[in-house]
Amino acid sequence: MCEFCAKHGRGKKWFLNEDNYKKELLEDKKRRKLLEDYTGHSMEYYLRDSIEITNLAKKPVIGNLARKIINKVTPRQYGGQVISIEDALKVVDISEEHVLLPCYCRKLTKGDENLCCINFGSIKELELESKASKSLVEIDAYELKQRLKEWDKKGLVHQVIYGKIPYPISICNCERTYCFPMKQRALHTCDKAFMRGHEVAVVDPKRCDGCGKNIPRCVHLCQFGAIHYNRQDNHVHIDPNKCFGCGVCRDACDKKAISLINRKTYRY
Ligand code: SF4
Ligand code: SF4
Repeated sequence: MCEFCAKHGRGKKWFLNEDNYKKELLEDKKRRKLLEDYTGHSMEYYLRDSIEITNLAKKPVIGNLARKIINKVTPRQYGGQVISIEDALKVVDISEEHVLLPCYCRKLTKGDENLCCINFGSIKELELESKASKSLVEIDAYELKQRLKEWDKKGLVHQVIYGKIPYPISICNCERTYCFPMKQRALHTCDKAFMRGHEVAVVDPKRCDGCGKNIPRCVHLCQFGAIHYNRQDNHVHIDPNKCFGCGVCRDACDKKAISLINRKTYRY
């Protein structure tokens, strides 16, 4: 359990607690304003702000201050946590009014309008109200789950996003090349911008054969550099301190050599 589960989970992971999806949460004026800004085109301004603060986080002295600010304000704005494909599918079951939108990070960095950002709950209504979005596509839960599984096979990392904690609004399916929150976390230790998942990956050395003579698939797919191949014992090793628990490596392994376990039960 993470700090959000302790406050908002009622014994479950915070994003699996149905109470957090209730429409009444939109009566919170700050949240509503945030989501009205998010919908339509305004997220681009948020991302630009975020890029500016990220750039500040690189600087030697004020960097520490910038990181503190990002970590402090993120729960009151947008942030996310890595989740496994199993939990992503459960989020689809709990949430309603599913729509696909372009990923803002890809849109801003490479002009890519691919519909790989899953949104739900009040986002559809607010997007339609804003009249700014021309790209919204409605999708049913079955089709959405198929897409999620396809993206998982491609190695995209699922992250549940909140609009002011604890209100889940989307599942993003990201890559380090484009994802701003992932970069903020990976490059500048802004850990609230992109939180680790609840699980960690472990390898069964009896099953792993290092992918034979091929490049190990799991090493290639891990976006966090958490897996390395050891030629001497001919299998891979996972660094739990680098692993975010996305499960992409596990799903790519046809030897079923990798599993996800609860991070709290991991013996370092
Ligand atoms: S864990 Fe699986 S995918 Fe990774 S090297 Fe071993 S056999 Fe290959
Ligand atoms: S080791 Fe596996 S579960 Fe951990 S971050 Fe890398 S791909 Fe994800």
